[in-house]
Amino acid sequence: MSSTDSDSDQREFDWVERFCNKRGNEFFCLIDEEYVNSNFNLTGLRQNVRHYKPALKFIRNTEEPNLELMSEEKALEIEEDTEHLYGLIHSRYIVTDEGMRRMAKKYRAGIFGKCPNVFCKKQPCLPIGLYDEPKKDTVKLYCPKCRDIYSPKLRYRKIDGAYFGTTFPHLLLNIRETIRPSEPPQEYTPTIFGFQIDKIDLENENNEKIEKDEDLNQNKNEEFKKEQKKENIK
Ligand SMILES: [Zn+2]
Repeated sequence: MSSTDSDSDQREFDWVERFCNKRGNEFFCLIDEEYVNSNFNLTGLRQNVRHYKPALKFIRNTEEPNLELMSEEKALEIEEDTEHLYGLIHSRYIVTDEGMRRMAKKYRAGIFGKCPNVFCKKQPCLPIGLYDEPKKDTVKLYCPKCRDIYSPKLRYRKIDGAYFGTTFPHLLLNIRETIRPSEPPQEYTPTIFGFQIDKIDLENENNEKIEKDEDLNQNKNEEFKKEQKKENIK
């Protein structure tokens, strides 16, 4: 077999490449084979996946399990488990040097999406999970400029946030200074007829306080007068 044949065969059976190229999976980077082939990197994942062995075979590209020989239900479960296992490995991989490099490339290209905040001027965002445990919440977008969290495009809203985790964007921005936004986040100031709402609220509060104080003084005066009258009667 020539090397060209071997390459094309590999592409045909490469589950990881197929998965990452699927529309809606653009947030995932390709995990390199070396990382996936190390059992050490997968420590503790077995108990979280029902069909761990066949799922890992797909991801390691060692052998394509024949799903046609299985019941439809089991084949579907294995397919789901493979995607889940890939996501769990992914969350570990993207905090390694090579994983961060691959994700930074996607970030620079704006693949994860841009911040919807007008003042952020289309700042590229990074995927983030609000939890590190799977099946708790879906993936969100973190904007490094306004430091806020947003929902991604509709087609990404079913992806588990744990496949990216709570640490990844902050670690990436911390290590790679060059991708950190240089300008500080600008804050929007709400106004009514040109007056800042906060200032109007403050003035209203002060006026109310003055009125309350005046009422209180008046009551005290009246009580004092009553007391005096009582004293006079005695
Ligand atoms: Zn922003």
